[in-house]
Amino acid sequence: MIGWLVGLIVFFLLVVYCGVPVLWTRILHLSSRRYANRPGNVALTFDDGPHPEYTPRLLDVLKACGVQATFFVIVEHALKYPEIVERMKAEGHEVQVHGERHLFVPFLHPMLTYRQCVGASRALQERFGVLANVYRPTWGACNLATLLLLPRFEMHMLLWSVMVGDWRRTEPRELVRRVSEKLSDRAVIVLHDSDWSYGAERGAPLQVIAAIPEIVQAVRERGYNFVLASECV
Ligand SMILES: [Zn+2]
Repeated sequence: MIGWLVGLIVFFLLVVYCGVPVLWTRILHLSSRRYANRPGNVALTFDDGPHPEYTPRLLDVLKACGVQATFFVIVEHALKYPEIVERMKAEGHEVQVHGERHLFVPFLHPMLTYRQCVGASRALQERFGVLANVYRPTWGACNLATLLLLPRFEMHMLLWSVMVGDWRRTEPRELVRRVSEKLSDRAVIVLHDSDWSYGAERGAPLQVIAAIPEIVQAVRERGYNFVLASECV
């Protein structure tokens, strides 16, 4: 009987700590944002980098297109490739927080959860002098500790409104079609500039990079301006 009771309590606590926050942010869209603040704006964002092969190529393409984007970086990679982060900054892009490492947050205890958001933000601030106060949890999944920590440390969660499965190798034309189909006013587009995360197909970012000029064109054809993550929270 006691075993059952303990099991029930543990299950209830797990649901409250791991399950409810994911529903809260992803389904109910509470304590998180997924659109730009003002009409006529669209945010282009990239998760999981920096990657030594893909990110510099992506930066070349963004430069050629004259577009500023937001990079939600993994701190572990950012510290390994600081020159790429410095280049992002120098070229007017924004550097924000995706995590210390690419971990599944719902099952992390509060201290590790802190390191994924607040700790990661502080590490980026100390190393690169950026105000990294926008957090996009890895796989878009958080826990109760995340929801309590973010407001306390004046951080904001930004998810997305356009996601197109670009972590699988997909023809650039098909990526453009999917983005165009989901594109709306104030959209936040998420793409990926690394294939190191679990579930990503090797080489997928090359297709993303090839699709960027046409994605940029699609956004501009609708009359939207590009804004950064800090203009969405
Ligand atoms: Zn990610």
